[in-house]
Amino acid sequence: MNVAFIGLGAIGFPMAKRVADAGFSLAVWNRTEARARDFARATGSHVAGSPADAARGADVVITCLPNSPDVVAVLDGENGLLAGLASGAILVDCTSGIPSMSRAIAQRLLERGIDFIDAPVSGGVIGAEKGALTVMVGGDASVLDRARPVLESFGQKIVHCGDVGAGDALKAVNNALLAVHIWSAGEGLAMLVKEGVSPKVALEVINASSGRSNASMNLFPERVVTRAFPRTFRLALLDKDVGIAAEVAAAAHVPAPMLQLTAALWTLAHNSLGEAADHVETVKLIEQWAGVEIA
Ligand code: NDP
Repeated sequence: MNVAFIGLGAIGFPMAKRVADAGFSLAVWNRTEARARDFARATGSHVAGSPADAARGADVVITCLPNSPDVVAVLDGENGLLAGLASGAILVDCTSGIPSMSRAIAQRLLERGIDFIDAPVSGGVIGAEKGALTVMVGGDASVLDRARPVLESFGQKIVHCGDVGAGDALKAVNNALLAVHIWSAGEGLAMLVKEGVSPKVALEVINASSGRSNASMNLFPERVVTRAFPRTFRLALLDKDVGIAAEVAAAAHVPAPMLQLTAALWTLAHNSLGEAADHVETVKLIEQWAGVEIA
């Protein structure tokens, strides 16, 4: 099977590497070409001159970009994916995107005989490196089955979630929960430090009790208490994800005050800490407000 991979960012790079290592013939394109060249040097893959070039002859094209408008941007234009995608090909969009936009993209592709599935991932950069991602798929189950051998190179748990857009919707909710857990653990631990409780002791108790989460079990011990704060998943992207969850809830007339508040808080953090900050660095803002360090 010929595969093309578009978007070699923090998670796209290790995902594409898994595809190359699995033995698929791979063409890559990245907006900043130097990164595609680095990738090709590491894997022996082909660097395409444009999205259209990457898509020519590909059975499966994977996109992994910040958001759905970026996917539309690489589809269109003289050198866009649409200029190269052949009838019978599959576009697998691993972007954590917007359900309604994925449905519109799928419809446009269908008119040209091209199949589409939304297939956002979870598990972080380390999960991608290990091929241990969870992949949540929206679209026709038979299209997923055709693309599955490629998805298996980076995904350990591949779940068909429903029609096109279902993967995006589920991903937005998952990440909204992540955002709630980071924020609330930050507030709770800042309060405990002020009460004289060591954060290590607090986490030991919480992680053996009912308040535990991925934030308390992994992110705080490994990244906050150690002050390591590695940059693996940009805060700007989590802000985008919570925003998608809040907007989908509003459009569906689901009262969701928790999601709306969480979206507003993460936009505030994004505006304060900037484009390059990691999502866990949001805790620094909570620490600043409280006047303590969770360390
Ligand atoms: P990054 O910000 O690290 O990388 C974004 C990639 O998209 C880069 O290759 C960038 O190119 C490219 N890009 C951005 N805008 C455009 C555009 N308009 N046209 C063409 N290319 C563009 O993001 P991640 O790799 O971290 O995330 C990608 C997706 O995966 C997001 O939807 C994110 O929410 C999701 N995700 C990320 C996880 C993580 O741990 N990082 C975990 C799970 C999901 P350039 O190199 O030129 O900037």
